[in-house]
Amino acid sequence: MKLFCVECGKETNNLLNGMCIDCYIKREKLVKIPGRLHLTICPTCGSVRYKREWKKKEFKDAVKEVVEKAIVVSPYLENKEIEIDLIRKGKTLYECKIFLNGSIKGKSVNSEVCTELLVEKKTCLTCSRKAGKYFEAIIQLRTEREEEHRFQEVLEELKTFIREYQLEGRDVFITNIKKVKGGIDVYLSDNHLAKKIAQDIHSRYGGEKKASPKLVGLKDGKRVYRVTYLIRLPSYTTGDILSDGKDFYYLKSMDGKKVHIVNLMNWLELTCERKFMKNFSVVGSREMIKETIVVSQSKEEIQVMDPDNYKTIELRKPRSVHFGRTARIVKTENGIFLLPTQKL
Ligand SMILES: [Zn+2]
Ligand SMILES: [Zn+2]
Repeated sequence: MKLFCVECGKETNNLLNGMCIDCYIKREKLVKIPGRLHLTICPTCGSVRYKREWKKKEFKDAVKEVVEKAIVVSPYLENKEIEIDLIRKGKTLYECKIFLNGSIKGKSVNSEVCTELLVEKKTCLTCSRKAGKYFEAIIQLRTEREEEHRFQEVLEELKTFIREYQLEGRDVFITNIKKVKGGIDVYLSDNHLAKKIAQDIHSRYGGEKKASPKLVGLKDGKRVYRVTYLIRLPSYTTGDILSDGKDFYYLKSMDGKKVHIVNLMNWLELTCERKFMKNFSVVGSREMIKETIVVSQSKEEIQVMDPDNYKTIELRKPRSVHFGRTARIVKTENGIFLLPTQKL
């Protein structure tokens, strides 16, 4: 059967809407778009609203998404490519030029349409909560030894946990950080994640943990609680020098239940249950470790330069380890100890 184009009468075996390809491309609208597009963004953080949700998006990408959702193209169009040109027309109004490239039955086509984009500014839930100092939970960090740098260390860790949750798209933030007697209080926007973060911190640093919920009201007929998580950090931390009254130890690492220590007398590594840590006292921190220059060494001994007075100190190597140009030592009232490796 012969097929003819209704427009030009040409014989063809490819009819699109009754027309040959050339006529179809000439006559039909390849692309349609509504006269006005809408986009709602948060003026504070730039998040974009999708119905009831807010998502972090670059403005350019958000516009592209809106255009791609609204645009209607010819069903015969293949290899579609869209380029968008935005021209600001007013405070919230943009002229939006859309260039379309593609092909129809192997013939390359392009088309251009114009529309308006109205950008509505609305504060997102997170930003309005931040502004209102909204919080659902408090993590209280306390230590026996009230040391600024330990709180800073744990706080940094806590912020890292929060960033990880935020990267997962979870809506959690710190509302407030308060210095109080004996520690710091961290106010968090989400109770569910605060609980997880408190667990994360506790399993990293050990110590005691306690949760105390407080009824603060009703919301949609449900009781609303604000929970305080108290974490009493242990008196020891990674890098500390410990003593059990006899030997000296370096605290290498720790996890939820166990602490890994190195006996500085013989470099033997021990794993100690948290509950037995009360047998140790902290005699110093990482700052006690000093880098020294190696003067000479044999299999059993090493001579290093005392960084305090430049005198040569001779130390016994518990194990035959070869040191490079430097070695690290710990000076205690019971003598000077050599650390086994640079990595400790
Ligand atoms: Zn034709
Ligand atoms: Zn926002």
